[in-house]
Amino acid sequence: AKEAKNGVAVYRPSMHTDDSSRLLLLGDLRRALDAGDQLTLHYQPKIRLDDQGLSGVEALIRWAHPTRGAIPPAEFIPVAETTGLINRLTLYVLRLALAQERAWLDAGLPIPVAVNLSPRCLLDAELVRHITDLLAEFAIPAALLRLEVTESAVMANPAQATATLTELHDLGIHLSIDDYGTGYSSMAYLKALPVDELKVDRTFVQHMDVDQDDAVLVRGAIELGHNLGMTVVAEGVEGAAHAVALQALGCDIAQGYHYARPMPGEDVTAWLRTYTA
Ligand code: C2E
Ligand code: CA
Ligand code: CA
Ligand code: CA
Repeated sequence: AKEAKNGVAVYRPSMHTDDSSRLLLLGDLRRALDAGDQLTLHYQPKIRLDDQGLSGVEALIRWAHPTRGAIPPAEFIPVAETTGLINRLTLYVLRLALAQERAWLDAGLPIPVAVNLSPRCLLDAELVRHITDLLAEFAIPAALLRLEVTESAVMANPAQATATLTELHDLGIHLSIDDYGTGYSSMAYLKALPVDELKVDRTFVQHMDVDQDDAVLVRGAIELGHNLGMTVVAEGVEGAAHAVALQALGCDIAQGYHYARPMPGEDVTAWLRTYTA
């Protein structure tokens, strides 16, 4: 992709803005889903602030491209979201996450696992059936699965999104609002949704010590979440000072490099052993 910057054409291979690089990426992603060995999940712990215990993990996709190396999800998820490929990718992720959950359960570790759902997935009429089948296939209690959705996913089609989320919730699956603070937000929708967790976007958490507006937003999000009976999670907690400040504000759970980076599933058990020790 070429982009004019101050009149100079700059090659930005990471920006899939033009059609040819978009199509190339989609083709590669399709092949990666077929091949089955390029896309893996890393898991990042979510820590309860009151007792420092493990609340669960979030599954985050990783792509080891055969020639381009690691491609971050921020680069290919938005492209996949422009087509139906995101639905296939989501099922792929759910399968990997639930297979990992089965391994954890077999090791005696019922670790709740969260999977990110793209907005488009909430409009997929087959989603609930696919998830029901996968839970049955791996014999995973629904309460161990959490799905993270953004508010924009709900706002795109409130009626259908609410119907899908309600069906998922009725199965016993837990739901989170992701990236809270970044998009259009409506108290009315939040209140009506069967959601029990609010994740405050890391961009606000990271600057809450230096930016008064961000501090106000984080404080307000914690208050709003609690008023709606939700658990509040702070994303992107990178330092001890943030953790202390968040706990003082009544935040329930923290996630970020301060506690642990996303890691392969088989490393989680070892991490947990040293963490609790
Ligand atoms: P997200 O859902 O907000 O996920 C959190 C992102 O923050 C992850 O980036 C994680 O590695 C990063 N992170 C965690 N702690 C820290 C921290 O302390 N500091 C900083 N600077 N970053 C931190 P990642 O893995 O690159 O994923 C980026 C985004 O891609 C995710 O944002 C999510 O929107 C999307 N994504 C990742 N995996 C999936 C997936 O399986 N499905 C879908 N639909 N989207 C995914
Ligand atoms: Ca997320
Ligand atoms: Ca997030
Ligand atoms: Ca985010």
